[in-house]
Amino acid sequence: MEDCIFCKIIKKEIPSTIIYEDDKVIAFNDVNPAAPIHILVVPKKHIETLLDVSDQDNELISYVYQIINKIAKEKGFANNGFRVIVNCGKDSGQEVMHIHFHVLGGKKLGDKIV
Ligand code: AMP
Ligand code: ZN
Repeated sequence: MEDCIFCKIIKKEIPSTIIYEDDKVIAFNDVNPAAPIHILVVPKKHIETLLDVSDQDNELISYVYQIINKIAKEKGFANNGFRVIVNCGKDSGQEVMHIHFHVLGGKKLGDKIV
């Protein structure tokens, strides 16, 4: 998708610190981290928001969680725990309109999400 910053990262038109990549998913460090570990896990398919996920994407979204599981174990933060957040739309403050999964960890996170 033209003008989508995450599609540009996927196409390597914009640099990022890539943690993991395969044909369906890319994961890279958030440029403005909110925690010591702040990885964005992004399906390569340009889906704008969670509301745009269709039945056809069931396998892909499930796969994203498998990749998060794999990254957490391989990067060594699985045992300490972590948080996964998906922002959707205006009230969430979603800035990038390409669905992405924030993986946050590396410290004790607040007990409340907001
Ligand atoms: P959201 O508010 O859920 O749309 O989150 C978008 C996230 O993308 C923010 O946490 C930004 O810091 C992050 N971000 C924006 N541009 C880049 C980039 N070029 N590389 C890595 N992360 C980015
Ligand atoms: Zn995109």
